[in-house]
Amino acid sequence: MDKAEGIKPSGYFYTENGANMPLKPKVPCEHPDCPELVPVGQKYCDKHKPLHHEEQRSASDRGYNSKWRRESKKFLEIHPLCVRCLEKGIATPATVVDHIIPHRGDQELFWDRSNWQPLCKKCHDRKTMTEDKEVKYSY
Ligand SMILES: [Zn+2]
Ligand SMILES: [Zn+2]
Repeated sequence: MDKAEGIKPSGYFYTENGANMPLKPKVPCEHPDCPELVPVGQKYCDKHKPLHHEEQRSASDRGYNSKWRRESKKFLEIHPLCVRCLEKGIATPATVVDHIIPHRGDQELFWDRSNWQPLCKKCHDRKTMTEDKEVKYSY
């Protein structure tokens, strides 16, 4: 075994797969037809970021924080059954507090209890798949 093996000249850096990658790889902005390059991990360039901030921000930033967890839990204690299942005469324990009118980041709508409804996971998923579908692209 050559003792020198494994020692690399200083100033050279190798990634795990041996490729010599640039320090900060860039990817194109995900906004349609935008030629701007952005650092990996970022989806949109500075110009388009505000247009997509709804999906960029994490759930907790949108208001789904500890207060929401606490308040929604309280709500479910008072309204323990899924309203959609109840309409069909089925009593299913609700596990999700859903916004009847999509709040789209509107804090007032978000915390308006009259806009809340208890749903079970299944009904909530079905609602998200259908009614809330267009929300993401409504900028
Ligand atoms: Zn862009
Ligand atoms: Zn249900």
